[in-house]
Amino acid sequence: MLIVMTAAATKAQIDNTVRVVESLGFRAHVMPGATRTAIGVTGNQGAVDLSHFENLPGVAEAIRVTKPYKLITLDLRPDRTIVDLGDGARIGDGSLAMIAGPCSIENAKQAFAVAEIVKKSGAKFFRGGAFKPRTSPYSFSGLGKDALKILAEIRDQFGLKIVTEALDDANVDLVEKYADMIQIGARNMQNYTLLRRVGRSKLPVLLKRGMAATLEEWLLAAEYIMAEGNYNIVLCERGVRTFAQHTRNTLDLAAVPAVRRISHLPVIVDAAHGTGRSYMVTPLARAGVAVGADGLMVEVHCRPDEALSDGAQSLTLDEYEKMVSEVNAIHDVISRNGAL
Ligand code: PEP
Ligand code: MN
Repeated sequence: MLIVMTAAATKAQIDNTVRVVESLGFRAHVMPGATRTAIGVTGNQGAVDLSHFENLPGVAEAIRVTKPYKLITLDLRPDRTIVDLGDGARIGDGSLAMIAGPCSIENAKQAFAVAEIVKKSGAKFFRGGAFKPRTSPYSFSGLGKDALKILAEIRDQFGLKIVTEALDDANVDLVEKYADMIQIGARNMQNYTLLRRVGRSKLPVLLKRGMAATLEEWLLAAEYIMAEGNYNIVLCERGVRTFAQHTRNTLDLAAVPAVRRISHLPVIVDAAHGTGRSYMVTPLARAGVAVGADGLMVEVHCRPDEALSDGAQSLTLDEYEKMVSEVNAIHDVISRNGAL
């Protein structure tokens, strides 16, 4: 259920409405907006009697939500969510957020060399894997806590915000100590205990689309996180599994406008995992910006041939710098024309 407050509703009236929701055993999610505040109600099994709320002071209307998601929708919050990590690092504010770095943190030298270029190119976010979900148990699975420490040093030295993946609850505890944003990878998009755990985190969450997930399943995964009270979520399209053999995954760029039509959450495009081939990364990154993505994720390595993971889809430092200037030019055109 959704309670829409009047434009003139006072804080006391909003607080009182929350109290009534909670007294019935439900959870109230207060979403302030530019013109009015809405309160999403979750925790109810079945229909709630709307008359509990309709006559409360400051309430404009109470609406039954028939869609499967209640919190991630534009019905609850017509204004777009801006995920703000501080120091000008924002996703969803109309700027183009660049989240770049190596697939895995391999050592301090490698990570710092990439971070230097990422910073120089104007990015505000640095990504690097500490805990790697690998298809084979014999592949390099990340340096764990040592990688987190390197990432924290990069944050201190370059002022970049750190995005890194957590594979389980214990990883989340560590990532919360060292990083700025928790990535939930494609393989864990439907790990509901993990989604609930990051839903209780204070850090924003980057939620990748599962490799065989429908749009609805992906948005419901975001709904899991929001239902726990964490409203700072960025969706990431990273390609889905199809019969195509010329790419690692098929990057579903139509997902970007599809998400934006339903949800207030920002959505970015991962052109690295979405293609798996470095020569395709820049063209698909350009396309991602053109379809309205709020940002891009790409993998960058000083020597892609020697990378311990995902070298085939990693850009060299030079390729990365060139890509950034190209996507920025496209973003300028798109935003100047008011298409975003
Ligand atoms: C990654 O970002 O390095 C990663 C493992 O991505 P995905 O979960 O999309 O495969
Ligand atoms: Mn990778």
